[in-house]
Amino acid sequence: MRVPLNNSSQQQLTSTPGTPATSASNTVEADVYICGARTKKGTPCSRRVHGPVRCWQHKGMPAMLPQEKLLIKDLVP
Ligand SMILES: [Zn+2]
Repeated sequence: MRVPLNNSSQQQLTSTPGTPATSASNTVEADVYICGARTKKGTPCSRRVHGPVRCWQHKGMPAMLPQEKLLIKDLVP
């Protein structure tokens, strides 16, 4: 009784169609903004929020910066 040990085992390594590693698990870090509301110092708040909104502290206040300046995408290259 012979078991053919040819390239049958190697085919499994190369023929695996890209397993979805981390792309489908998390959709949270898609858009990250900063709050951007004016603080007491006169500088835009740099607290991070998920979406073009203000943070809990500056809710209802307008942002100092345009929305395109609030969007940060440099978390994961
Ligand atoms: Zn804020």
